[in-house]
Amino acid sequence: MSSTGSPASPAFDLADDVRAGRRRAVDVVEASLAAIAEREPELHCFNLVLADSARQRAAEIDRMVAAGEDPGPLAGVPVALKDNLCTRGIETTCSSRILAGWRPPYDATVVTRLDRAGAVVVGKTNMDEFAMGSSTETSATGPTRNPRDPSRVPGGSSGGSAAAVAAGFAPLALGSDTGGSIRQPAALCGVVGMKPTYGTVSRYGLVAFASSLDQIGPFATTVADAAGMFDVIGGHDPADSTSLDRPTPRVVSVLGDGIEGLTVGVVRELLEGADPDVVARITAAADVCAAAGAHVEEISVPEVRLGLSAYYLIAPAEASSNLARYDGVRYGLRVDAPDAASMNVATRTAGFGAEVKRRIMLGTYALSAGYYDAYYGQALRVRTRIVEGFERAYHQCDVLLGPTSPTTAFPLGERLDDPLAMYLSDVCTIPSNLAGHPAISLPFGTGDDGLPVGAQLLAPALGESLLFRAAAVLEAGAPAGTGGAAGGVA
Ligand code: GLN
Repeated sequence: MSSTGSPASPAFDLADDVRAGRRRAVDVVEASLAAIAEREPELHCFNLVLADSARQRAAEIDRMVAAGEDPGPLAGVPVALKDNLCTRGIETTCSSRILAGWRPPYDATVVTRLDRAGAVVVGKTNMDEFAMGSSTETSATGPTRNPRDPSRVPGGSSGGSAAAVAAGFAPLALGSDTGGSIRQPAALCGVVGMKPTYGTVSRYGLVAFASSLDQIGPFATTVADAAGMFDVIGGHDPADSTSLDRPTPRVVSVLGDGIEGLTVGVVRELLEGADPDVVARITAAADVCAAAGAHVEEISVPEVRLGLSAYYLIAPAEASSNLARYDGVRYGLRVDAPDAASMNVATRTAGFGAEVKRRIMLGTYALSAGYYDAYYGQALRVRTRIVEGFERAYHQCDVLLGPTSPTTAFPLGERLDDPLAMYLSDVCTIPSNLAGHPAISLPFGTGDDGLPVGAQLLAPALGESLLFRAAAVLEAGAPAGTGGAAGGVA
């Protein structure tokens, strides 16, 4: 928080300057492109930098302001989009060879909403292939590096978006979170990342990974910026059949409401596998909640221990079905062969990377006749247990607190040959996806290695207001020097 007590909102302050004619959008975009030119060769946050269209859009925003029109609450603000969000006429690859050259014929709803708010898209960000991974190393375009320490991973799968915000390339970015892919990279890069309640943000135009889990959400350097971006992208969309047809919580207006009198539950099971320095930061975060007048208690939600194993049946099962569409006919890559069936095999063999193939095989097995009930059916029953566990917890508590990731950013290559170690990176984030609940990660101090630690807050479905209120309190009480962007635009 600033000295005046209102939470800092650099992206929206920047837009206010552009709207008032105090700052030109073209200058803002040039600053973003200059920051990108300087560090992108080292970090590889982007699959595609859209310098020309960003400059044109910025000039258009400036013309609107000069003509007395209001371009919207994000006027001239550079944003980075994860490369699984469809952009009309602009290559969208999910960092996979199989989608190379594919240009969607339409924009994702979130892209349209950002555009209407006056934002300027500066690029499509690198990710784990089809969002499968926790380090952005399964990308067909090569890994992204963590701006806080380029020998470390940025987390994943939205590692390019998290790193772009941490590096100051853009003050805002979008990612997608199926099992933690917004929150975990946000934690590892020292920025804010939020996964909304399932159904509050339209997924029209998000390339599907596991449809019962996928959600789109914001990355920002501050809680208020993330809240503002959520307000811009949220709300019912008839083009998405899973979109909730009821009012989405508006969160910017409640940011200053505090948490006095609320009960915050520190989830014992989320702390279990975490490194001691991470546990120490979360304990300090709990103290901040107590000092703000919340009642803090330790709570046990034993069902969250089952999250990882249920997720690695449900997510691959859904992925095996969703990825069946890449057949060499409809999208991107085609490897020619004498007949359709061998063309299909050759295309998929050449087009998918090892992790995607592993998921398709796991998922196909879990869904096969004779195993369906023992694996997929059982995982669905476990999922129900997890929902019930959270229900009990929210009877007792308003919000829950735990680490986002059990460790800080790990070295590149460390977990690449050990899928289980990689999967364990998401042990703290997966339960909210299975329950469909909102959760946010915000920077809260550093580990013994000097790298960012993320505190994770969880709330019941449609509890975004509580979530952001608590996040604003934690942000204000976080140790100095936590998070933010390393120079750059805002
Ligand atoms: N890391 C998890 C996975 O590999 C989650 C990914 C995600 O949220 N997209 O499936």
